[in-house]
Amino acid sequence: MWGQFLDQVLNQSHLDVFSRYGALPLILLLERLFPMRKTPLFGRGWLSDSFYYYEPWIKSAIFGWFLVEATKRVSIPEIRAFTQSLPLVGQFFLVFVLTELVFYVMHRMMHAIPFLWEFHRVHHSSTQYYALMTKRLHLLDETLFGFPTLSMVLLLSPDPQVAFFLVFFRRFMDLYGHSNINGPRFTGFFLVTPHFHAWHHSNHPAAMDKNFSRDTVFLDYLFGTAYYPKGQIPTTFGEPTYTTNYFRQQIQPFIEIFRRKAALNPKKTAQRQMYQAEP
Ligand SMILES: [Zn+2]
Ligand SMILES: [Zn+2]
Repeated sequence: MWGQFLDQVLNQSHLDVFSRYGALPLILLLERLFPMRKTPLFGRGWLSDSFYYYEPWIKSAIFGWFLVEATKRVSIPEIRAFTQSLPLVGQFFLVFVLTELVFYVMHRMMHAIPFLWEFHRVHHSSTQYYALMTKRLHLLDETLFGFPTLSMVLLLSPDPQVAFFLVFFRRFMDLYGHSNINGPRFTGFFLVTPHFHAWHHSNHPAAMDKNFSRDTVFLDYLFGTAYYPKGQIPTTFGEPTYTTNYFRQQIQPFIEIFRRKAALNPKKTAQRQMYQAEP
């Protein structure tokens, strides 16, 4: 039954186009109809954020190269044979669970390692929590975030329809999870919903370094990083002084890393202090 369903519904190019370009306007409309917080239609940095969402060439070039290089190295016939011996639902869950795990570990690393944080910080810089900022990701950050799904799909080599459904589902969940839609709160106990993931972006001290999961919340509960207080919704997000320009955002992490290094270097710090002391 599942096989027939997948045959009929998936691997359709119009669904691919919808999930790439049409899902955002739909989610933006739902945000207006069922808002969680009062927010303007276009927040700080909206033009740049739209560019992130719709620019097709920079990311395709990076992912295209990555895909070709990774396919050469990762494909193992025995693993592919094992995956393809499973029914389609089994293949889906195998790839899904493993990518959730790899994503969770990588996401925690991005928050814990200062060098990686400077790139991930771009995603966290939005002062408004709404779907338009979903794709505000530094290109390096986006490549690293694409790695869990891409590597597991390449390593396990499930049926192409399973891979398509996974990507389709994730594109939708990414948008929904970052949206301002006031959906049913209880779904946040098993899925990464707007209620749940907003705490990850919140500036509230209690929510610091919490809710790292991608699509299901189980790993956060398993590893003690879940934060989901009853009857509250976060209201302050991001950094009001962080640049909202797409191109500047691609450069800013390198500037921050350089600044940090210079600040840690005693000779440079002393030089800077001397320079500032000059009349
Ligand atoms: Zn994060
Ligand atoms: Zn996010």
